[in-house]
Amino acid sequence: MGLTSNMNKQTVDEVRDRIARRVRREFGVTVKSAAIQQVYQAAALCVRDDIMDVWADERERSKGDGRKNVVYLCAEYLIGRAFTNNLINLGMYETYEKALEELGFDIGAIEEQEADAGLGNGGLGRLAACFLDSLSTLNIPSIGFGIRYEYGFFRQEIHDGMQREMPDTWSIDRDVWEAERADRVFPVQFGGQVEEQWGADGRLKVVYHNAQTVLAEACDIPIVGYRSKLPATLRLWRAHAPSSFDLTRFNQGDFEGAVAERELAESISKVLYPDDSHNQGQELRLRQFYFLVSATMQFLVQSHKNQYGDLRTFADKIAVQINDTHPALAVPEFIRILIDEEGFTWEEAVDLAQRTFNYTNHTILPEALECWPAETMQRLLPRIYRIIETIDARFRDRVWRNHPGDADLVGRMAIINGGKVRMANLCVLSCGHVNGVSQLHGRILQSTVFRDFYTVYPERFCGITNGVTQRRWLGVANPRLRRLVDDTIGEGFMTDWRKISELEPFAADASFRQAYDQVKAANKVEFSNWMLKSRGVEVDPAMVIDAQAKRLHEYKRQLMKALHILAIYDGIVEGRAHKMPPTTFVFAAKAAPGYKRAKDIIRLINSVAKLVSSDERTRDLIRVVFLENYDVTAAQHLVAAADISEQISTAGMEASGTSNMKFMLNGALTLGTMDGANIEIAEQVGPKNIFIFGARVEELDRMKAEGSYNPRAVVEANPHLQRVLRHLVDGSLPTSDGSRFEDIYYSLAPEGGQGDAYFVLHDFASYDQVFAQVMSAYVDRDRWISSAVVNTAKAGYFSSDRAIEDYANQIWQL
Ligand SMILES: *Cc1c(COP(=O)(O)O)cnc(C)c1O
Repeated sequence: MGLTSNMNKQTVDEVRDRIARRVRREFGVTVKSAAIQQVYQAAALCVRDDIMDVWADERERSKGDGRKNVVYLCAEYLIGRAFTNNLINLGMYETYEKALEELGFDIGAIEEQEADAGLGNGGLGRLAACFLDSLSTLNIPSIGFGIRYEYGFFRQEIHDGMQREMPDTWSIDRDVWEAERADRVFPVQFGGQVEEQWGADGRLKVVYHNAQTVLAEACDIPIVGYRSKLPATLRLWRAHAPSSFDLTRFNQGDFEGAVAERELAESISKVLYPDDSHNQGQELRLRQFYFLVSATMQFLVQSHKNQYGDLRTFADKIAVQINDTHPALAVPEFIRILIDEEGFTWEEAVDLAQRTFNYTNHTILPEALECWPAETMQRLLPRIYRIIETIDARFRDRVWRNHPGDADLVGRMAIINGGKVRMANLCVLSCGHVNGVSQLHGRILQSTVFRDFYTVYPERFCGITNGVTQRRWLGVANPRLRRLVDDTIGEGFMTDWRKISELEPFAADASFRQAYDQVKAANKVEFSNWMLKSRGVEVDPAMVIDAQAKRLHEYKRQLMKALHILAIYDGIVEGRAHKMPPTTFVFAAKAAPGYKRAKDIIRLINSVAKLVSSDERTRDLIRVVFLENYDVTAAQHLVAAADISEQISTAGMEASGTSNMKFMLNGALTLGTMDGANIEIAEQVGPKNIFIFGARVEELDRMKAEGSYNPRAVVEANPHLQRVLRHLVDGSLPTSDGSRFEDIYYSLAPEGGQGDAYFVLHDFASYDQVFAQVMSAYVDRDRWISSAVVNTAKAGYFSSDRAIEDYANQIWQL
């Protein structure tokens, strides 16, 4: 019996009465006088009760069935709101909608009461959330482990065109979905000295002196899959100082020291680092990662022992996926537990770890590859460092034996080198499988960063293309399209990704196309209303919506898009513009607080917005909107309304991308480079239904190797581009303080040939040309909508269900 069979029996009357009762009991008021936030909480608690009932039973039941569990280890989960998603997946949405209506509330307004849980930065964290949804929907026993950050990803405000970061207080009313597990508490040790004692029995005993202990307490969130029998669990660890902690110091009269130490302990789960694809190397971050993996591995070992008695079967019952290198210390932590506490030999422990762990790489950007100063790690995690040293030393010996004299090779492959601990090398060496997140990215890993490893261990490597869950990204985000698809081919596609392809023939059906077009038009009106209400910004729903929504990063090239809008502006003003339908360009992006160039680009985008809307020659033709505080909820509104999906990263730099998939599913046409999963989208939809521009990765590699790229020459050959760049420095772009954009200008085409590391200028002409094709394609409505339908129909492959099936078959061996 699954979650839904027992809930579907509930009638609207029952649900209505339960909510009303809950409002009274939780808040001591009647529904009539309750605040809408209270009604939201009461309704959510009712949903939660039902989930918890079945969750408890199913967790108990699945314990006994001996199936292999998937453990997903990730420092980030970009969850978003849960209320609507849970209701849809439970099959209870309409019942609650009516019940709330009878109580006098619109479910849409109730939904808006929930905070957006943003415990992640971007694509990586959203992938983790989509994967849990799929694991649950596919009824694979699974549990995700993460950190319960008290403050999630910062809230972005734009003042005078500039980003300001505000704390995100998601957890104030978030407890609704959480179950605290005071019975699941594990001590995590930091610092101190480690003493290795060899006992008379020949066994190693490890003694810690002066270590600091922090407690990890579990908070569980159920992840309800679609009509699933088995909700997945997201277990987030929260840091506590043990109560004994300050006692000694208190007794010695050192009150300040005691409080400071308590704060240091609890700071571990205080805040999410807002860096995406950038490794800053702060010590607190290393503490966070070790805290996460130590608590997790202690729990997994303990529960496996309780259930099976014998740790030697661990890898038969548990597959651990390490999502990026952040949780990589799980490997040495597991080895530590096996050797120090469970009496394993070194060889046994390393072998078991290898069969347990797998590693997903997310980026090859050098600034993102995680390295820790050996000194820091040694001081903070002395025992773990010792284990890594041993893995490293044994590996160096092996390489040296096989390639005598090749010190370069040893240096490249070693874990510890030049005073740094290279986490990616640790992962590749000690995990059973290593995967990239698209086919291109998988190949790039083999030929670049992990080339040496690939030569030795080719069987470890593969590429598994990312996916997104169609439940949230179609079912929740686009109810109109979901209904149209339901009515046309049935609702099977919600759990069987292959089925959405049955929509393809309807691209040729004029009445279906009309219905599809009406859905998009209605979504644009709704998006426009939502923008006005939530952001105070007007969007004309009659205009084309061209969207670029993702973290702000130079390699994603929001700058190219902004410069191109300036080119369109110049074209209109100078009377040489191509004809194009009136278009709103939507940018949504948060910049890491310390990433100056990214923040400058946000300032530029807002300045361009001001320029084009204050000039009456352009204001009715083009608009630029910066969607403040991009989060999962904003993404849901945007993907349903967009016509064009901008996926314009420098070829070879976007490992996969997932917003490309969300937009495609909702019928936006991609304007993109041959990068990441764009390549596979192009394969799926065919060249007629996607717009590809720009240099291919091979061409860029060649130019980089030869040093032959000369951005100055590109600018000199293109007078329109010269005109565009002049805007950056001639004062024509309005800013509140009269400042200009010199830094950006000089980064692009400085004297002497260097510059433009992301090939913005190189790809500019190609982008301009293909953009014009997009605009003329848009006005051929029959063809455009038919292409949009094909995009939706071909999006099945990009379901996270397909991705999870691939992991299950190729990596986890379920
Ligand atoms: C999907 C998503 C992302 C990832 O976008 P990419 O274009 O793949 O980088 C980032 N942030 C949010 C809120 C998302 O929903």
